[in-house]
Amino acid sequence: MVRSLDEIDRVGVVGAGTMGAGIAQVLATAGYEVAMRDVDRDLVQNGFDSIESSLDRLADRDAIPSDDVDRIVGRVDGTTDLEDLAPCDLVIEAIVEDLEIKQETFADLDRIVDEDVVLATNTSTLSITSIAASTNRPDHVVGLHFMNPVPIMDGVEVVTGESTAPDTVDLAHELAADLDKETWESDDKPGFVTNRILIPWINEGVRAFDEGVATKEDIDRGMTLGTNVPMGPLELADHIGLDVCLHASETLHDELGDRYTPAYLLKRKVEAGHLGKKTGQGFYEYD
Ligand code: NAD
Repeated sequence: MVRSLDEIDRVGVVGAGTMGAGIAQVLATAGYEVAMRDVDRDLVQNGFDSIESSLDRLADRDAIPSDDVDRIVGRVDGTTDLEDLAPCDLVIEAIVEDLEIKQETFADLDRIVDEDVVLATNTSTLSITSIAASTNRPDHVVGLHFMNPVPIMDGVEVVTGESTAPDTVDLAHELAADLDKETWESDDKPGFVTNRILIPWINEGVRAFDEGVATKEDIDRGMTLGTNVPMGPLELADHIGLDVCLHASETLHDELGDRYTPAYLLKRKVEAGHLGKKTGQGFYEYD
C-alpha cells in the first residue's frame, strides 16, 4: 500500500535547479509543505531566488494575490542534507540527468523515508525501471515528468516502470490533478511520449541552422508561424538547457540507434559552456 493523497502534507524535492525549484513552487502554491534539497547552500538559495522571482511575476500579472508570495515561499524549507527528507510523505527527484547519480539518490531515499512513501522521478529520458531497481520498493517508484516552466505548463507525463504498482500510478495522477495539471500516461520506453518526439525535432532544428537552411530566427519563426507552436526548436532548446537536450539525445541514441544521433552543433555548444538561457548564451544571447 502507498500513502494516499489525503495523507500527504510534506513533500521532498531533490534538486533545486530549473525543474526542482518549479516543482517546489507549484507544490507550495497548492498548500503542501516542501523540503527542497540541493548539494550546497548557494544552489538551494538559487532555487529560492527562482521561486520568488517566478511568484513575483505571477503577482505582477494578478495571477496570484501579492501577499501570497511570502506565504507560499514560507512553506518551502531548504536543506543540503538528504536526511532532512525523512518526515516526507512523498519525494520528487529532479537532479542531474545521470543514471548512476539518480540510482545512488534513490537508494539513499529508500533508506531514509517510510516504506509506504512513493518516490517519483522527473527524469526526461532515463528508465524508470532501472532507477526503481536501486530501491527495495520498485512498485512505489514512478515517473512524474513535469514540463518546463513548471508553474506555467499544464501537463505532467506519468511514466509507469516495469514494476510500478497501480496505486502508485493512481497517486501520481491524483497529485498532478491537485497541482492543477493534466496528465497522460507513457510506458517506460526511451524518451516516453514527449521527448521521443521533441528531441529529434530540436536536433533537426539545430542541423537546419548548422547546414545553412535559414537563419536561427527564421527557423524559429518558420516553426512558430508555420505549425502554431509557441517556440521554435532553437529558442526552446535554450530554455530547456542545451546540456539537458544533449543528455536526452545521447540516451535516445544509445537506446534507439542512429535516427537519434545528436546534432554536432549541439555538442559543440555544450563543450563551449553555452548552455542556453541559464548561462546567458546558447543559440541566442540573454541578459
Ligand atoms: P538543473 O541542472 O537546472 O538542476 C539540477 C540540480 O540538481 C542542480 O542544482 C544540481 O546541483 C542538483 N543536484 C545534482 N545532484 C544532486 C544530488 N545528488 N542531490 C540534490 N541535488 C543535486 O537541471 P533541470 O533542468 O532542473 O533537470 C533536472 C531533471 O529534470 C533532469 O532529470 C532533467 O532531465 C529533468 N527535466 C528537465 C526539463 C528541462 O526542461 N530542463 C524538463 C523536464 C524534465
